[in-house]
Amino acid sequence: MSTLYIVATPIGNLEDISMRALRILGEVDFILCEDTRVTQKLLSHYNIKTPTISYHQHSDIKKIDYILELLSKGKDLALVSDAGTPGISDPGGKLVQAVTEKFGEDVKIESVPGPSAITAALSISGIPTDKFIFMGFLPHKKGRQTMLNTIVDSDYPVVVYESKHRIIKLLEELKNINKQIERENKEIDEENAKMYKKEKRVKRSSVTSVVVCRELSKMHETVYRGEIEGIIEKIKENIDDQKGEFVVIVGK
Ligand code: SAM
Repeated sequence: MSTLYIVATPIGNLEDISMRALRILGEVDFILCEDTRVTQKLLSHYNIKTPTISYHQHSDIKKIDYILELLSKGKDLALVSDAGTPGISDPGGKLVQAVTEKFGEDVKIESVPGPSAITAALSISGIPTDKFIFMGFLPHKKGRQTMLNTIVDSDYPVVVYESKHRIIKLLEELKNINKQIERENKEIDEENAKMYKKEKRVKRSSVTSVVVCRELSKMHETVYRGEIEGIIEKIKENIDDQKGEFVVIVGK
């Protein structure tokens, strides 16, 4: 029976990989990579010589068929993404689905757990994380405002991924929603004070704490906590702080 291993790889620091992951990457017949050049750096670092095959979110049906054929021939495969856990805002889900649909129980799908930017960020956030919502990347245009309002109104902390191009934009948008809520709440207070009004309008609560994690596990790892305005100022102060990869946790 062949096995498809879903292998987590480092999100920055190459030492953040399990011994099991290294063993499996060395033992499988092929490694399916989101970007073979990115994975090659990891493989070279650990002197792993397993051949790689490109598999990414734009891979067509032919590529999936080829991968299914390898599995049907008894080959063992490992799927990795550029960083972290495949399938988490990364290619993987479609392949796992195709494999389960075609082979059912006849191909084993095993997870080889490890780093993910979500858990790394949550673990150092200081925000209670017994429950949280993960919203991945927000849409750039259509539906963005609705998502932002959903984040602000969430009863649980919300984790989002953000790129360097939009990190300030995201924080400014949250700040503006906060301001809007403050204005609305003032109006509501005034209305509710009028005793003849039977139905009191309910207030929304604004975002009070945000944690922005930049370049986790890398040389320039930086964590900003506190009020949105202060974080925006700090990130704007230094152009280098606007570079890299970001996870934002919005708490209440
Ligand atoms: N599959 C990955 C995981 O498990 O975390 C996530 C892949 S997603 C395409 C890439 C995004 O994850 C980045 O844009 C950033 O938001 C976040 N990310 C990945 N590595 C990070 C790091 N070292 N520090 C902060 N955020 C990171």
